[in-house]
Amino acid sequence: MRRDFDIVIVGAGPAGLAAAIEAKKSNSKAKVAVLEKMEKAGKKLSASGNGRGNLSNRSCRELDEVLNFFIESGIAIRADEAGRIYPYSEEAKAVTSSLLKHAKRLGAEIFTDTKVSNVEADREGGFHIFIEKKQDTFYSKKLLIATGGKSFAVYGSSGDGFSIAKSLGHSVVSLVPGLTAVEVEESLDDLKGVRAKAEVSLLMGGQMVFREEGEVQFRDDSISGICVMNLSSKLPAAREDLPGCKILINFVPDFDTVQLKNFIGLQAKAPGNTMLDLLETIIKKPLAMRILKDVSIDGNQSTQELKGAKLVNLLNGLRCFTLSPCGRKGWKEAQITRGGVDLEEIDNETMESKLVRGLYFAGEVTDYDGPCGGYNLHNAWLTGIKAGKDMAKGV
Ligand SMILES: Cc1cc2nc3c(=O)[nH]c(=O)nc-3n(C[C@H](O)[C@H](O)[C@H](O)COP(=O)(O)OP(=O)(O)OC[C@H]3O[C@@H](n4cnc5c(N)ncnc54)[C@H](O)[C@@H]3O)c2cc1C
Repeated sequence: MRRDFDIVIVGAGPAGLAAAIEAKKSNSKAKVAVLEKMEKAGKKLSASGNGRGNLSNRSCRELDEVLNFFIESGIAIRADEAGRIYPYSEEAKAVTSSLLKHAKRLGAEIFTDTKVSNVEADREGGFHIFIEKKQDTFYSKKLLIATGGKSFAVYGSSGDGFSIAKSLGHSVVSLVPGLTAVEVEESLDDLKGVRAKAEVSLLMGGQMVFREEGEVQFRDDSISGICVMNLSSKLPAAREDLPGCKILINFVPDFDTVQLKNFIGLQAKAPGNTMLDLLETIIKKPLAMRILKDVSIDGNQSTQELKGAKLVNLLNGLRCFTLSPCGRKGWKEAQITRGGVDLEEIDNETMESKLVRGLYFAGEVTDYDGPCGGYNLHNAWLTGIKAGKDMAKGV
């Protein structure tokens, strides 16, 4: 059986749901269908921000558009001191269910367990939409691909939108796991499980290209934490380009060199203090032991001997703990996808394809990747809103 709609949206994530709501708000007569492959809509949204859903950020572009959308969809929000915007309830699941209710109330039809396998554009400017393992097909005048990226496939997005886009003539910028843990050459067995507040920097070809403070989490073969995930997005896409990079970790970012030298110098004079005692006042014991080992200082040695080159080496060990990135954790762990449908081929005001009339793209399926802090969900809302409004015109 063929079902005809004015607008079909593939993917009931934040971008797809925002588009459905805006399309119906702009044109209540438009027949809108949302096709979702999973048994439930918005699984990734419900899991986002550790279940709290960091929905946006005060420093995002066109913020008012998105904030109005939240208000009109009945989503109360609040921002933390860093500008990250969360649902007031801190329950991402509640956001998903508000959006679903709102979309249905406005008259959009949501079809779950409906995986789009391929799409064909016809000569009349419409789209035939085929469903995996089902005889039913859909037909629409306007089509939005809001299938997300390729990471965390357990929540539904496994890259289908990229093949659909290619089959319709679009280019896809190469796909790389983004916002993920970074694998390093050095063994970190002794630091496994340690979390440390620090400043991480990325050096590429000797140039500093990224610096951020935050919590670094050590695993046996990799490092993670928000600042590391943000750093991962600045690493070269190709693995063979990684050897030109170094990660520097400063475990004492609140001290400048003189303050640190003075502090350590003072502690070193205390009678009976060992090197390990001294470092343990600043960093966790496994880190203290690792740094002492790296700079060849015996932890049981008296601090009275801490002077000259030894002192300089120890200061460097604390401020420039150096790791060599050699890979990144893959699609199972990456929060987002770098790369996607080429933005050059999409009108960024309407999200309509510049190549195929009536075809739209929104959210992570496009070549957008933002840092942690609400930027990726913001992009999904904003592009979904723009596409929804434009698709509703003239149908
Ligand atoms: C664990 C985790 C936590 C995150 N936390 C945050 C956060 O706090 N803040 C933030 O800004 N970003 C966060 N992100 C990133 C953010 O969730 C995504 O960028 C955002 O969900 C993208 O929205 P989207 O609508 O484009 O795609 P998705 O949310 O991936 O939705 C796409 C939908 O399309 C469906 N679909 C895919 N293929 C098909 C098909 N062939 N047929 C039918 N349906 C299909 C999928 O099942 C899915 O429901 C997080 C990501 C992860 C993995």
